[in-house]
Amino acid sequence: MRLTKYFLPLLKETPSDATIASHQLMLRAGMVRQNSAGIYSWLPLGHKVLKKIEQIVREEQDRAGAVEMLMPTIQSADLWKETGRYDAYGPEMLRITDRHDQEMLYGPTNEDMITDIFRTSVQSYKRLPALLYHIQWKFRDERRPRFGVMRGREFLMKDAYSFDIDEASARQSYYRMFVAYLNTFARLGIKAIPVKADPGPIGGDLSHEFVILAESGESGVFAHRDLVEMAPPGDVDFDSDLSGEVDKRMALYAATDEMHDEAAYDAVPADKRMEARGIEVGHIFYFGTKYSEPMGAKVQGPDGKPTTIHGGSYGIGVSRLVAAIIEASHDDNGIVWPASVAPFGAGIINLKVGDEACDRVAEELYAKLSEAGLDPLYDDSSDRGGVKFSRMDLIGLPFAITVGPRGIKDGVVEVKDRRTGERESLSVEAAIAKLTG
Ligand code: ATP
Ligand code: MG
Repeated sequence: MRLTKYFLPLLKETPSDATIASHQLMLRAGMVRQNSAGIYSWLPLGHKVLKKIEQIVREEQDRAGAVEMLMPTIQSADLWKETGRYDAYGPEMLRITDRHDQEMLYGPTNEDMITDIFRTSVQSYKRLPALLYHIQWKFRDERRPRFGVMRGREFLMKDAYSFDIDEASARQSYYRMFVAYLNTFARLGIKAIPVKADPGPIGGDLSHEFVILAESGESGVFAHRDLVEMAPPGDVDFDSDLSGEVDKRMALYAATDEMHDEAAYDAVPADKRMEARGIEVGHIFYFGTKYSEPMGAKVQGPDGKPTTIHGGSYGIGVSRLVAAIIEASHDDNGIVWPASVAPFGAGIINLKVGDEACDRVAEELYAKLSEAGLDPLYDDSSDRGGVKFSRMDLIGLPFAITVGPRGIKDGVVEVKDRRTGERESLSVEAAIAKLTG
């Protein structure tokens, strides 16, 4: 993409209502624009990152055996009345009445709807386990939308739902998602640790939040250091027994302040104890028959008898992740994108647009990096060098190649690594090889 043909409305001033780094940087870098409290437009740069995160989440869900579908944003209130959630959900639910006086709502989540789809589609245990997901906008009329897209009112969520014949089998589905989440966050270039979450009235040990450690996090986190350092499971067979991967993590202490158990934490060796702030980016949950019971979601069991299915739900905050990744990865000059989610693979800065040699080399780099699939952003504007450098730092692409008249005379361009700040003078060929190799 040529910068002169792109839409990148940067802000010079840091907006005063933005108090955390990710919110400031997303506004300054022209990634989002607020339209109403907690409701955002995703401008081209932000949209690109959002789509990259969404795609990684999708690939890891698919790999784990979940099947993608798409449910609507607007739901009928009827299903929510069946489960009793229409009244229980409270003022966070945006309620809408259509022209026929039908009560509708903008979905904050989809357990009720997916359970209805399931009960009318599946009659036999032989079709289980079933694991379905979608990636769809949600609306929650949060009391205090804040921190930009971190706590929005409209936000993009991946939500998966599992259906199993009994608790033991539901546990296997839960483990699938547990492992898929570890791989997902690792691919996104961040460390997210599974911490024990409140299982609610169901009890048991099957509710985990995945949190990214960052100073601006809303929850306090207490964890065993080894959990943070543990490598992701990687290429596992999702049809095999995954309890080894899960158990070795569950054995290490990790809880948010809500679930914190002082005595259990004290049993962790002192040099392994870690207290930090965390951002919740995912939540997985086994809820048994909470929805299937009131909605009559039954299948014929192996014994021929109608059996109420056991369910679980598994969320990832896709839009929140954009901000959370920035919280975990930025410096004084701007965002530092992990390569997997960077909006462009590299930047090209032409310091003297209109100069025959500079234009020729910059165009060559642009063509070759594009051809190699790196999706470069070419700064072909007539702005001053300083403006170009700070803009490139702000939007945080992994590499920037600078083409200037002085270097060209020596046959070199400068390659800067955004993360380390290291600069190297390289021939055009070597620069291309470095970025595409
Ligand atoms: P929180 O405790 O942060 O309010 P939650 O527990 O209500 O979140 P879940 O119902 O578990 O959220 O939703 C699944 C995921 O969706 C969360 O882990 C989070 O990443 C994301 N999410 C929830 N609420 C919001 C929001 N208001 N804005 C952006 N993302 C959100
Ligand atoms: Mg939650």
